[in-house]
Amino acid sequence: MLQIAPSFGRIGEENAFAVLARAGALAAQGRDIVNLGIGQPDFPTPPHIVEAGIKALRDGHHGYTPAIGLPPLREAVARDIHRRHGVEVSPDAVMIVPGGKVTMFMAILMFGGPGAEILYPDPGFPIYRSMIEFTGATPVPVPIREANGFAFSAQETLALITERTRLLIVNSPANPTGGVTPKAEIDALVTGLAGHPGVAVLSDEIYGTMTYDGQAHVSLLAYPEIRDRLIYLDGASKTYAMTGWRLGWSVWPKPLYDAARKLAVNSFSCVNAATQWAGVAALDGPQDCVAAMVAEFDRRRGLVVDGLNALPDVSCVTPRGAFYAFPNVARTGWKAKALAAALLDEAGVAVIGGPDFGVHGEGYLRLSYANSAENITRALERIGRFLAVRRPD
Ligand code: PLP
Repeated sequence: MLQIAPSFGRIGEENAFAVLARAGALAAQGRDIVNLGIGQPDFPTPPHIVEAGIKALRDGHHGYTPAIGLPPLREAVARDIHRRHGVEVSPDAVMIVPGGKVTMFMAILMFGGPGAEILYPDPGFPIYRSMIEFTGATPVPVPIREANGFAFSAQETLALITERTRLLIVNSPANPTGGVTPKAEIDALVTGLAGHPGVAVLSDEIYGTMTYDGQAHVSLLAYPEIRDRLIYLDGASKTYAMTGWRLGWSVWPKPLYDAARKLAVNSFSCVNAATQWAGVAALDGPQDCVAAMVAEFDRRRGLVVDGLNALPDVSCVTPRGAFYAFPNVARTGWKAKALAAALLDEAGVAVIGGPDFGVHGEGYLRLSYANSAENITRALERIGRFLAVRRPD
């Protein structure tokens, strides 16, 4: 009888993948499915980035790179941070990793373990909780509320800190809600954290380039008060439509950098070299491709929000970032996951039930608008027709 480590019994996964698998299976049977479930840009990676990756392969970049990443890419990340957040970061504090999730995993491994408490947003990216449980730490959900525009509440977050709290995970702009935490609230959070010097902060800013309505993204890197305990998470997946390339980067405070480097050496060795050169082209190249994608997401955002708010018993707060809408469907009488399942099976629309993002997600659905305007319109029509005739189970 094989016996795997007990920690693997605690590891979860993204339930969204189950929905996507079902949507794929239905499509394979010939069903016409509109997929608003998936959280990845529907654009191809911009051609100049693809070409840089191909060139790197042709030029013979086939070997290991330093585990922390190629110097030109770490320098390009430091320049990107300076350009976008106005903050000086040494390339020596930057680490290149295979996707945003890997920074998350490293930080949670570092601060987790039995006896530790880790605060994470709920509803939030499901992997936070899953990884916290994997380490044996106690996950402490920070409620993210519609009444608060799906922003973090500094007061509510700080009240959850105990002497066991080791790490606070912040995510803005957020998955699954599209919420953006305003500067005043982040100011208050940072001020309050001064009273808790033993709490590290992981700031997941993977959607940092995607804010709307003229609202600037506020990076936690811009707060010198917490720089000595801040882990900054970003990457190319969403901003440059590079989810499959596996390229992320993080900034670590000096005392943690070596531990992170050792985790890299012990696990993935390095991000593949060609991908890293593509990353240099992404960060140092023209940024108008990013602006064009964000403008298109913004256009679709209007379509989704207006369409949802026109449905009976559905209301949707306008998301200020990322590419998700998180409508409230409680008044339809449906449980969110049952509604998502019925929409997929009976209406051919894939969306994710809010509880897949945490207990505070009950009563909501997540719709990704990383899909064409045409498909979004079709999906909304189908949801409307479904709700008009189908009573809850
Ligand atoms: N953080 C958040 C909030 C996300 O939504 C995602 C992906 O969906 C990630 C991190 C992971 O990104 P990556 O694909 O680069 O690992």
